[in-house]
Amino acid sequence: MRAATIHDEPASVIRVFSKIRDLVGPDRVDEFGPGANGAWGSRPNVGMYRTRRNLGVIRPATVEQVCRVVEFFDDPDLPIGLHVVSTGRNWGLGSAEPARDRTVTLDLSDLDEIRSLDIEGGFAIVEPGVTQGRLATSLAGTDRMLNVTASSAHTSIIGNGLDRGVGLRQQRVDDLLGLEVVLPDGQLVHVGWWPEKDRRTPLYPYGLGPSLLQLFVQSDLGVVSAAAVRLLHRPEAQRVIRLAFASRDLVPAVNTLRRWVAQGLVGGVLKIYDTVSAAFYGGRAGGFLAHLCVDGTVRSVDAISGLILDEAVSSGLFTEAAPHGREAGGDAVVAMVEGAYGGDPSHNDAMLEATLGQPAARVDEHGLGWLFFLPLVPFSGEDVARAHGLLAQIHEETGVRPGCTVNALSADVIDFVVTIKFAREDRAAERAHRALDRAYELFSATGFMPYRLDIDHADWVDRLSPDPGARELVRRLKTSLDPNGAIARGRYS
Ligand SMILES: Cc1cc2nc3c(=O)[nH]c(=O)nc-3n(C[C@H](O)[C@H](O)[C@H](O)COP(=O)(O)OP(=O)(O)OC[C@H]3O[C@@H](n4cnc5c(N)ncnc54)[C@H](O)[C@@H]3O)c2cc1C
Repeated sequence: MRAATIHDEPASVIRVFSKIRDLVGPDRVDEFGPGANGAWGSRPNVGMYRTRRNLGVIRPATVEQVCRVVEFFDDPDLPIGLHVVSTGRNWGLGSAEPARDRTVTLDLSDLDEIRSLDIEGGFAIVEPGVTQGRLATSLAGTDRMLNVTASSAHTSIIGNGLDRGVGLRQQRVDDLLGLEVVLPDGQLVHVGWWPEKDRRTPLYPYGLGPSLLQLFVQSDLGVVSAAAVRLLHRPEAQRVIRLAFASRDLVPAVNTLRRWVAQGLVGGVLKIYDTVSAAFYGGRAGGFLAHLCVDGTVRSVDAISGLILDEAVSSGLFTEAAPHGREAGGDAVVAMVEGAYGGDPSHNDAMLEATLGQPAARVDEHGLGWLFFLPLVPFSGEDVARAHGLLAQIHEETGVRPGCTVNALSADVIDFVVTIKFAREDRAAERAHRALDRAYELFSATGFMPYRLDIDHADWVDRLSPDPGARELVRRLKTSLDPNGAIARGRYS
């Protein structure tokens, strides 16, 4: 039997591809028949999530082209919508794969201009293809820095921020000052703060009246074509302290760390790796390892890190309490953490390779499999111990042993990053996905709700919402802003 191709699709689909080829040029459009291989939307992904039926990829070169493409899709006769990616490296949650079948990928990685960089004012205007590595390099030697994540230097600042990613300094969503958005009818609007030509206005993302910026985060209500991103003040001095503790001391050790965070002694996002996750990421295994950053002036860093080390020793909880040396001694996690707290992601790709055995460009095609589950947990020793108990239960039930890294988002909330690493073959993938399903069930039943979803658990968004009325409001907004489904339903709708 002849394999179906794009030409078996309704006339409206064939027409829209033809109009888009005329607009952006044929080399910027790929069309896929089912099972086609070799390009985004049909290539493998590191999570081994099911490949969705993706009809093609469009790679616009300008924002004007993005507006026109979206406008073409705002058509009641067109039964497909756009799935938007910036650099498509959402590893562990589905990579560039859409949540739903029958979409066309809008790949914005060629929109890669840093439109402006204002060191004095503290912001950059970047397009979706601008990677954290590129912006960080532009800031080297200045007194501003980017809040970088632990992921590859080749990941998008906008893509990560729009999925509510987490950097080493703070949540990436807090770096978003304003967004340039293409609405489903092709109109271009700026929400939040945006620089003015002739006068300087203070950086304030909320605006007057209802705050619109958050409408476009974890959202299928618009296509973000640029963002105003906050540049943090670079601390005059910084020291990363490493504290090791044994499993039996998990509860008091976490409560001690929490106290230091609550009292403002710790800068950035405190991280705690368990043995399994440290080993996953190419770090040293054995007990728990906390990394905390102290920053400020030279004298304040000396004073505070001295105080923390004194308290750590006198508590008797920590088996090792030391400021990091500059040299990481081959430990990929230590090298990444040390650089990334200071806005330098140049060690991140070595950690990625130590983790998955491949460089960024090959992670989805080759090497090991990888899944993320990302629940929020209250910051207390007792809750962290309970969450680890759930991981032990998953291990017992499925034979899969997940790792965990704690990112303290505040003195009250932890991003409890659950990682599942597996051999890339069908049986191991099946077990890993069973462990992931159990994580959703067990953690949410305990009240530890995920704040980001993978493409297979998009339907959990209704289950996880505390009020069905709020979900209904989201649907009303979608219907009113995007009545023709120009943008496909994503992971959060
Ligand atoms: C070893 C390792 C370490 C990692 N460390 C971290 C970490 O520290 N913190 C962290 O957050 N993640 C981390 N990740 C996960 C992931 O790699 C990053 O979150 C990465 O930044 C996401 O990929 P991206 O930037 O290419 O975004 P994309 O995949 O391009 O975008 C992510 C999602 O945002 C939406 N989106 C993207 N662009 C647009 C747009 N222009 N308009 C509208 N919607 C859009 C889409 O839904 C898309 O699926 C890690 C992964 C690995 C393997």
